[in-house]
Amino acid sequence: MTTYNFCAGPAMLPVDVMQQAQQEFINWHGQGCSVMEVSHRSKPFIKLAAEAEQDLRDLLAIPANYKVLFMHGGGRGQFSAVPLNLMQAGKSADYIISGAWSLAAVEEAQKFGQVNAQDIRIRTAEQLRGLVNTSNWQLNENAAYVHCCPNETVDGLEFTDLPVTSVPIVADLSSTILSRPIDVSRYGVIYAGAQKNIGPSGLTLAIVREDLLPAKNAAIPAVLDYRLAAENDSMFNTPPTYAWYLAGLVFKWLKQQGGIAAMAERNQLKANTLYQYIDQSGFYRNDVDPTYRSWMNVPFFLADEKLNDLFVSQAEQHGLLALKGHRIVGGMRASIYNAMPLEGVQTLVSFMREFERVNG
Ligand code: PMP
Repeated sequence: MTTYNFCAGPAMLPVDVMQQAQQEFINWHGQGCSVMEVSHRSKPFIKLAAEAEQDLRDLLAIPANYKVLFMHGGGRGQFSAVPLNLMQAGKSADYIISGAWSLAAVEEAQKFGQVNAQDIRIRTAEQLRGLVNTSNWQLNENAAYVHCCPNETVDGLEFTDLPVTSVPIVADLSSTILSRPIDVSRYGVIYAGAQKNIGPSGLTLAIVREDLLPAKNAAIPAVLDYRLAAENDSMFNTPPTYAWYLAGLVFKWLKQQGGIAAMAERNQLKANTLYQYIDQSGFYRNDVDPTYRSWMNVPFFLADEKLNDLFVSQAEQHGLLALKGHRIVGGMRASIYNAMPLEGVQTLVSFMREFERVNG
């Protein structure tokens, strides 16, 4: 039985990548040891690191005036790093709240400076969960930056357009990076924890426009300082080397798949397959306005919530793992990142159909 892991993160990785990692686990490139046992300052690792960065730059068409930083600390580390690096004396920062993670970012940023938070979550006339359109956000043109989270992992809401503003846009792309093309030049800073679409947890990417690097010797904890990271090729302290290696394999895999445009087509098909099945069923329900439905995280509910535990346990018996919804939202959630093949979603839909037939 093939198993499919729908976990929101740490999430499944491409099987090809895992097999390659397994093959070279104890003898990496003839070194006689694992990649996790070599110095980050050794020539072979520096080559690996540079190649991973270049592959990411190719995939996302990252302009030359952006630094790519391989950091520690996860998404929440960046919730602190962003205000520490970008808040300026006398300036506030705008924070858009579209769900649980952007709300958590606000709570952290408030420790470091003045935050103007704007909650854009709404209910539509049909009582669906939706968002205020980006053109209606109230933005302060004097803010140091505006922070947003285009894909809310817990809530299953995603927006793809950005506001027009002269203020740098800082985006938490933890659960959507590399899932569809983006125009990097529209952002001041992009960050993402690796454990969904990039690799294992422990690595965090930050893509920072050069003019936003903080002043030299600014009072920022060294491991969160974008300038120090940039000036030291992300090796001011020991980077998460094994996670960096695996991320590099994932980037090569993405190139082999045809790049981000090809992934976007596949991701759209996967998401449509699942949403269409849910929508035509009276047994399952998704309560997000179709305009804002996430391609990556699909929450859904059973009409009879008493069947939740049975659904999760039977799904597991069919090799469909980690479908229990986040405790804030309840119900179920299927996370279908890049590594989830279409067959995984089709298998889930077949299981849901059969579960409905028996219990509906
Ligand atoms: N932002 C988003 C959008 C997330 O989905 C998550 C984790 N699921 C985080 C931030 C927090 O990431 P971490 O646990 O790596 O700190």
